[in-house]
Amino acid sequence: MKLEEFQAKKLFREHGIPTPAGIMVTSASEAESAAQEIGCPVVIKAQVQAGGRGKAGGVKLAETPAEARRAADAILGMTIKDLVVQRVLVDPAVSIAGEYYIGITIDRRKKIPVMMASASGGVDIEKVAADSPEKIIFQDIDPERGLRSFEAKQVAFQLFDDKKKALATASIMVKLWKCFRNVDASLAEINPLAELSDGSILALDAKIVLDENAMYKHLELEELRLPTPSEEKELEASRHGLSYVQLDGEIGCMVNGAGLAMATMDIIKHLGGTPANFLDIGGSSSPEKVVHAMELLVSDENVKAIFINVFGGITRCDDVANGLVKALEQIKTNLPLVVRLTGTNEEEGRRILSDFGISATGDMTRGALEAISLAAKGGVS
Ligand code: GDP
Ligand code: MN
Repeated sequence: MKLEEFQAKKLFREHGIPTPAGIMVTSASEAESAAQEIGCPVVIKAQVQAGGRGKAGGVKLAETPAEARRAADAILGMTIKDLVVQRVLVDPAVSIAGEYYIGITIDRRKKIPVMMASASGGVDIEKVAADSPEKIIFQDIDPERGLRSFEAKQVAFQLFDDKKKALATASIMVKLWKCFRNVDASLAEINPLAELSDGSILALDAKIVLDENAMYKHLELEELRLPTPSEEKELEASRHGLSYVQLDGEIGCMVNGAGLAMATMDIIKHLGGTPANFLDIGGSSSPEKVVHAMELLVSDENVKAIFINVFGGITRCDDVANGLVKALEQIKTNLPLVVRLTGTNEEEGRRILSDFGISATGDMTRGALEAISLAAKGGVS
């Protein structure tokens, strides 16, 4: 689960990491009042679960409250990496003398946390990592002992010659480690860690990704979840017992069982098509589930054909067929539909479908090919 900057900064602050005291708002007029309250100049920053906001025009400096309003007006509603900006952070602007980078993540190969630091922080850190990896310092972290003060200092003195700045940075590193560990993050990053013209060091940006597998330990953090529209859809699906992940292809898939769902996506890709989603309707599928699943598929504008792939083990083909008929009676759609049905109560399932005018194949490859060719024709059956 990715946090937005304003949420990550709050966790940073709770761990003693210095960061500007900003105000998160959702409208341009609130941005103006926030700027008034904080005192100009301020920076208006798009809050989305993605980086690269600076380059996308999602970070703007404002000299007056009226300018803050205009900047917020321009940023709210903007799309950054497919995410629509619904919130902005109004932060007091600072005068930057240098931009550094610190991040902590898990080194999957070594199976331990690792801290990365660089004197070349700022908006081009990805380029630094790709073109001049020698500019990034790595420090392994013993998961039991944690990042120790002398280790942090060794790294910080490679970033700063000045003792005061190096010690301030080392202290931020240890606090970042404590934050990383306390919230069970998979990533905690400060970019830029800014050196200000008065010599102080503070976190100007904040990024935290929480480990989904540890969320059960952190009910208070669960409240920070801000689902994007597609995640909203996935959560809604899970409330109906469906496991759904939206993708960007053209073939809507409805499948029983996660393994078969993966295999279905693979075969569509292999045969030259693109799956619009992963959708597992589960082992024993009630007709209601099929109705919900159909609703999900037809609500995706990218979907040009639907491929229903059912292997009846515990799931009974007649249940799926009944659900499908019920769904198609309720949901009006012109999308072409291909059904592959095999396994328990297959004959009964096929009879129910053919009474409704749908013929089902028993062959997965044939079904996938047909769905792909129908989608290529533009989705009109
Ligand atoms: P990102 O592009 O999504 O990583 O957003 P950041 O929060 O890192 O902001 C991008 C850049 O905006 C930073 O690297 C800074 O150069 C600049 N920036 C952010 N806040 C301030 C500020 O208060 N004053 C100044 N002068 N620049 C800022
Ligand atoms: Mn940044």
